[in-house]
Formats: sequence, C-alpha cells, structure tokens
Amino acid sequence: MGYKAEHSLFDELANELDVNEVFNIGDSQQARTIMTAIWDGYEVARSL
Ligand SMILES: Cc1cc2nc3c(=O)[nH]c(=O)nc-3n(C[C@H](O)[C@H](O)[C@H](O)COP(=O)(O)OP(=O)(O)OC[C@H]3O[C@@H](n4cnc5c(N)ncnc54)[C@H](O)[C@@H]3O)c2cc1C
Repeated sequence: MGYKAEHSLFDELANELDVNEVFNIGDSQQARTIMTAIWDGYEVARSL
C-alpha cells in the first residue's frame, strides 16, 4: 500500500562500523510483513 523501506540507520552502520558485514533485514530492507521480518532474522542468524 505504498510503504517504503527506511534504511538510513543500516546505511550509516554499514559505512561506519569496522566489521565484515552488516545485515539489513525486515522493513529496513523492504517494507513487508511481520512474518518476512522474522524470516529475515532467522535466515541471517542461521547463516552466522
Ligand atoms: C499500520 C501498519 C499495520 C501493519 N499491520 C501488519 C499486520 O497486520 N500483519 C503483518 O504481518 N505486518 C503488518 N505490518 C508490517 C509490520 O509492522 C512490519 O513488517 C514489521 O513490524 C517489521 O518489523 P521490523 O523489526 O523490520 O521493523 P519495526 O517493527 O519497524 O522495528 C524497527 C524498530 O527500530 C527502531 N528504530 C528505528 N530507527 C532507529 C534508530 N535510529 N535508533 C534506534 N532504534 C531505531 C524503531 O523505533 C522500531 O522499534 C503493519 C505495518 C503498519 C505500518
């Protein structure tokens, strides 16, 4: 219904933190639903 991802915090952290990887999940990646946000977190946690 026209919601947009707001990922400025992710961009800031990805640019400023001295780490290998910063993950963008949930509505920050793409505005969707609670279920997809939970799956994003699950998939990232599983890949670590
Ligand atoms: C009106 C509305 C109704 C919805 N209804 C449904 C529904 O019925 N079913 C469904 O599945 N989904 C629904 N959604 C979508 C669902 O709410 C989102 O997909 C889900 O909440 C995304 O989770 P998230 O953790 O990615 O983001 P969020 O739940 O938005 O969590 C992000 C958190 O980060 C915090 N934050 C942001 N910037 C900063 C910062 N700089 N520093 C510190 N904290 C920060 C925010 O305060 C927030 O607490 C609805 C969304 C809206 C707007």
